[in-house]
Amino acid sequence: MKNLELHWKILIGMALGVLFPIILLQIPSFSEEVMVGEKSFTKLGVFITDWIKPFGTIFINALKLIAVPLIIVSLIKGISEIEDISKLSKMGGRTVGLYVASTLIAVTIGLVIVNLVKPGTTITEETRQEILLEFEGDAQKKIDMASGQKSEGPLQAVVDLVPSNIFSALTSNKNMLQVIFFVIFFSICLLRIPSEKAQPVKKFFDGLNEIILKMIDFIMICAPYGVFALMATLIVQSPGIELIIALLWYSLSVLIGLALLVFLIYPLIVKTYTGRSYASFFKGISPAQLLAFSTSSSAATLPVTMERVTEHIGVEEEVSSFVLPIGATVNMDGTSLYQAVAAVFIAQAFDIDLSLGAQLTIVLTATLASIGSAAVPSAGMVMLVIVLGAINVPEAGLALIFAVDRPLDMCRTVVNVTGDAMVAMLVGKSMGKLGEPKIKNWDDFEKA
Ligand code: ASP
Repeated sequence: MKNLELHWKILIGMALGVLFPIILLQIPSFSEEVMVGEKSFTKLGVFITDWIKPFGTIFINALKLIAVPLIIVSLIKGISEIEDISKLSKMGGRTVGLYVASTLIAVTIGLVIVNLVKPGTTITEETRQEILLEFEGDAQKKIDMASGQKSEGPLQAVVDLVPSNIFSALTSNKNMLQVIFFVIFFSICLLRIPSEKAQPVKKFFDGLNEIILKMIDFIMICAPYGVFALMATLIVQSPGIELIIALLWYSLSVLIGLALLVFLIYPLIVKTYTGRSYASFFKGISPAQLLAFSTSSSAATLPVTMERVTEHIGVEEEVSSFVLPIGATVNMDGTSLYQAVAAVFIAQAFDIDLSLGAQLTIVLTATLASIGSAAVPSAGMVMLVIVLGAINVPEAGLALIFAVDRPLDMCRTVVNVTGDAMVAMLVGKSMGKLGEPKIKNWDDFEKA
């Protein structure tokens, strides 16, 4: 195990996390049902929730804990190394342009697939009513969460970029964009002051950056155990097989779209533009993908995405530390594709015909909604409410897709993270900042 590369260790952790509950559930005393509050769980479910789930939560917390400090120090370090403001604005323009373009491609693919497969027509009236009834309450919670966002004016997102108090912005991972705004502003000013005054500040952040990278190394040693705990918890909390079958065509439509992006389109773009092979791209980014899959959170995965893209893919830090934190917050290709498929699926299930205008509205709103989605589990579903509202499809339809949302969230988060890595490579290449990876495999990393 010691000499295995990180992605193998994580994969083994994931596989054991899936197998462990499945095997134990074959033992009658573990599969016995007990009531906890109003819900019934298997005895194994209760055991895993009490004794294994907390380790998964600790692992995710540790990753999130590092995300904001990492953004701050690496962004300051990265921008202060650029030393030329015009280069910074060039990089900013390319980053935003590529993020918008990749999201538009994703939404379009989602729309084409869902219109071809028509998964909503496979649901019978009876199943629809049953599912709606079962998940009515859960869906309402998401709709309530989204209602705050809807009541805001059109420019609220821009207003929200500027924090009125940096310390309160730092207290929540949801405010990453505000932190990024402050740090970019701070770093530009750092470039503008006399060098002898700037040097000690830069040195301080350089040192801090090293410490944070070391902390990530330590957290990643626990990754296989963390993902084991996360997967075991997911298995005992997963929906029944009947629901999965009822929503099979919908789930497949989302999965086909996501797979097309991750396995075909992204590697193709990377190969065409940077010359990097399919294998080297995946070898570089796979631990971040596996972590995205297990945690369902681009924010929690960010420390690892940054480490992989910089050390193992070779994008220089001044590019990766700028492109990736912004990407984790605003670039969600997987989420936008899912929102497009889900919106049309719900419309089909309710027998609502969507005109071309409505489909174009989906392109626009899903792009914006994915930008507005927080990089945490289930955020894409909350923002889906806005897409549904824009095309006059009943928001209560959210209940239809609730049961399979978590597994699809895991998959769309992989796409979100991979899309960010791809854009970092493209921006890196265009700025002459894509070099050879510093670390070729996990052994070198452990020795480093
Ligand atoms: N879980 C996704 C992410 O963190 C967001 C979502 O689609 O719910 O990237």
